Amino acid sequence: MAEAGRILDGKAVAARVRDEVAAEVGALRARGIVPGLATVLVGDDPASAVYVRNKGITCEKVGMASFSFTLPADTGQERLAALIDELNARPDVHGILVQLPLPRHLDANHIIARIAPEKDVDGLHPVSQGLLLAGRPGLRPCTPLGVMRLLDETGRDLTGLRAVVVGRSLLVGKPVGLLLLERNATVTWCHSRTRDLGGEVGRADVVIAAIGKARAIPGAWIKPGAVVIDVGINRTDCGLVGDVEFDVARERAAWITPVPGGVGPMTIAMLLANTAAAAARMRGES
Ligand code: NDP
Repeated sequence: MAEAGRILDGKAVAARVRDEVAAEVGALRARGIVPGLATVLVGDDPASAVYVRNKGITCEKVGMASFSFTLPADTGQERLAALIDELNARPDVHGILVQLPLPRHLDANHIIARIAPEKDVDGLHPVSQGLLLAGRPGLRPCTPLGVMRLLDETGRDLTGLRAVVVGRSLLVGKPVGLLLLERNATVTWCHSRTRDLGGEVGRADVVIAAIGKARAIPGAWIKPGAVVIDVGINRTDCGLVGDVEFDVARERAAWITPVPGGVGPMTIAMLLANTAAAAARMRGES
C-alpha cells in the first residue's frame, strides 16, 4: 500500500515565519525602526474582536508595535475614513489592517482604497492587486502568501506543474492563482460554474481548495502524488473541517494540509512578515 501523504504542519511553519520576522524586526530596531501595525475594528462582533486581539498579541511577541482602534458599530463612513487618513500620516504606523467584514452601512471597498498602498499589509488595495497582476513588487494578500510558503516547504519546484485553484475570490482564489503563475505553474481556476470539477482536480499536481464548503472535494479526485492545500474552514457537527475529504485525500497525496492547523495559522504570520517588509520598504531598506 502507498504511504499516506505527509502533513504540511501550518503551526510549525507559522512558528518559523514568526522567528524569521522577529529576527528582521530586531535588525530594524537596531537601526531605530520599530515596525508598527494598526488594527481597526468597527463594532463588537466577538469573533472579529478575538482575531484583532490575537493579531495585536502576536505583533508584540515579535517585537513590533501594535495600535488597536475599536470604533462603535454605528460609526459613519466619514469618521472611519478620517481615522484611516490619520493612520496613513503617522510615521510609527507601517501597516494598517481594517478587520472585515465591516458593518453593512459602511462601504468596505471605499475604506480599503483609502489606505495608503504602502501600508496595505492585507494586500487588498486595488493598487496592491494591480501590482500583483503586473508581476511588480508590492504587498500581497496574507492567506495566499501563506499558501505559497506552505508549498515551498515541500521543496517542489512549481515550474511547469499543473496547479488547479478551486475558488476565484479576490481574497484567496484569484491572488493564489496569480502567485502560482508567477512561479511558472500552469494554472487553472475552477469555480461554481466549472463543468467537470473532478476531471480538472484529477489532472492537478497541485490542488488549492478555497471554496468554503465542507468536504466538497472528494479524496478520490486527487491525483496520486499531488500536493493538496486546503484553505477552507467549515464549521460542522464534527468540528472544523476543510473543503477536501482529508482522510481519503491523504492516502493519495504526497503532501496535504490539515484543517485546522494548516493554512489558518499562516495568515497572521504572513501579516507580520508584510508589516516588517512595509516598514523596511518605507525606509528604503528592502
Ligand atoms: P468566497 O465565498 O468568497 O469564494 C468561494 C469560491 O468558491 C467562489 O469562487 C465560488 O465560485 C467557489 N465555489 C463555491 N461552491 C463551489 C463548488 N461547489 N464547486 C466549485 N467552486 C465553488 O470564499 P473565500 O475565498 O473568501 O474563502 C474560501 C474558504 O477559505 C472559506 O472556507 C473561508 O472560510 C476560508 N478562508 C480561510 C482563511 C484562512 O486563513 N485559512 C482566510 C480566508 C478564507 P463562484 O465564484 O462561481 O461563486
